[in-house]
Amino acid sequence: MKVTSSEIVISAVKPQQYPEGDLPEVALAGRSNVGKSSFINKMLGRKALARISSKPGKTQTLNFYIINEQLHFVDVPGYGYAKVSKKEREAWGKMIETYITTREQLRAVILLIDLRHPPTNDDMLMYDFLKHYDIPTIIVGTKADKIPKGKWQKHAKVIKDALNMEKSDEFVIFSSETGLGKDEAWKVIGEYTSE
Ligand code: GDP
Repeated sequence: MKVTSSEIVISAVKPQQYPEGDLPEVALAGRSNVGKSSFINKMLGRKALARISSKPGKTQTLNFYIINEQLHFVDVPGYGYAKVSKKEREAWGKMIETYITTREQLRAVILLIDLRHPPTNDDMLMYDFLKHYDIPTIIVGTKADKIPKGKWQKHAKVIKDALNMEKSDEFVIFSSETGLGKDEAWKVIGEYTSE
């Protein structure tokens, strides 16, 4: 998809604040520092629309972006940041659960996982949670530029096996440094969001 316009619509914490209308939506989740803001910016061709986090775990809102007036991206706050209190973690969990289980416009979740490493326990919990609710999931393996090309598939397999990834879910190898995977990611998103 050629992105001609993108802007933030709202930072929401509760359903009453979610944008109205029936635009298809794709949410983005991943642990803090996985490269989620960089992914969003790269996909949208923007330098710093999604703020590249200096303080991981601090944005506890669902940030809705509108793209080409036809699609929403929903940036879910990153998980797994150690310095978050139990109370904050619980609030985060409730916010995500409410969103995932009630949002009818949600077509798929992009789960970002660092391609260099096996998934964390939190990554596996998130994937299981999404599968429990039958949410189509696109796994994006980030920071591919940090490992040699010859090892990409091997690393992808480690992640797929650890997650026990469903065959119907797709895996995209990505780098926001080089733009690798951008076209493929848009193609997969299009499969879930075009009418
Ligand atoms: P977020 O916390 O998930 O939003 O992660 P950010 O997008 O803020 O990225 C965390 C760090 O990883 C930053 O220093 C980024 O510059 C770096 N980073 C993100 N994506 C890539 C990538 O594809 N390649 C490389 N080499 N670094 C990346």
